[in-house]
Amino acid sequence: MSSAKVPFLDLKAHHDPIRQEVMAAINQVVDTNAFAGGPFVAKFEEAYAKFCDTKFAVGVANGTDSLWFSLLALGVGAGDEVITVPMTFMATAEAITYAGAKPVFVDIDPSTFTMDVTQIEAAITPRTKAIMPVHLFGQSADMDPIMAIAKKHNLFVVEDAAQAQGTLYKGRKAGSIGHAGSFSFYPGKNLGAWGEAGGITTNDPALRDRMVMFREHGQAKKYYHDVVGWNGRMDGMQAAVLSVKLKYLDQANNGRRRAAARYDQLLAGTPGVTLPVEAAYGRSIYHIYAVRVADRDAIMKRLGDRGIGCGIHYPVPVHLQKAYAGLGYKKGAFPVSEACGESFLSLPMYPELTDAQIDTVVTEFKASL
Ligand SMILES: *Cc1c(COP(=O)(O)O)cnc(C)c1O
Repeated sequence: MSSAKVPFLDLKAHHDPIRQEVMAAINQVVDTNAFAGGPFVAKFEEAYAKFCDTKFAVGVANGTDSLWFSLLALGVGAGDEVITVPMTFMATAEAITYAGAKPVFVDIDPSTFTMDVTQIEAAITPRTKAIMPVHLFGQSADMDPIMAIAKKHNLFVVEDAAQAQGTLYKGRKAGSIGHAGSFSFYPGKNLGAWGEAGGITTNDPALRDRMVMFREHGQAKKYYHDVVGWNGRMDGMQAAVLSVKLKYLDQANNGRRRAAARYDQLLAGTPGVTLPVEAAYGRSIYHIYAVRVADRDAIMKRLGDRGIGCGIHYPVPVHLQKAYAGLGYKKGAFPVSEACGESFLSLPMYPELTDAQIDTVVTEFKASL
């Protein structure tokens, strides 16, 4: 057990009030043996598509498969390039690599921490097939210019909306704007399963059918395989859990927004601390509340000693990861992402965070500076 005064994330506080309801849903899955794919997944897909204002949602095993299957379904493969950002979780780039394509990075905007749209066109080559913006920390990338550039150059757009279940961009849901939207339902995400799960949204019926095919061994019908696919189905149990939790997602996102507003207010004007900015074009769901500080590691250590759980998302931008040394990027290639990697500090953030807990975090944080 942690002796933290305030943990970084408190899933127990989030689940206790709905535990009975979720357990009843799990029992239904056991009663009907609908474990792999099946009716509970279909029911969740319908509800999640409705939530995202898309025609379709496809349940898959995790949010890395959802990125990968999105690219495969769009026909992205060997010899292609996909433009994305280096300030993201590794999975964004991994999916591009596993589709057979090459990740090409552009830096992030220093205010929104999402793709710097002014850098996209310079990164486009004859091999570019898609753009994959990341809605980092629950804030949407600036989708209108991204869609306009994609249209002009005949490119696909896959939104990495793993951190953006319910995020708005000019009133539209994240995941409903690009050709495909990719979601993770990893337990710590704003909508989290009780295990691993992911989902893809799209309005294109042909694309939806190809996504389904890729998650089920490339089958057009049972034991008839049109393409080489994978086993990427969603578990029935996870779908049942997610169907219950989806009902409470807006409420939970509002709880995070309340917490973020209190942090904003109490931390405003603190010397040496840069607060996150909510872009005027959208509504963030604050998956992460990341401030920027110099001497981050020392501050984080002191905060930990004072009983405050925090995190770093992400310390090493993807272009500087050892795994991608082969891409040949050098330090200095993406200065905003690199500076953020050195200065980001994620404070405790979850819907049930109380005002008193936030006040404690702020007091201890200021004392740690
Ligand atoms: C969590 C996450 C993923 C991967 O999702 P998994 O369900 O863990 O596979 C991809 N991209 C981003 C930005 C994420 O935060």
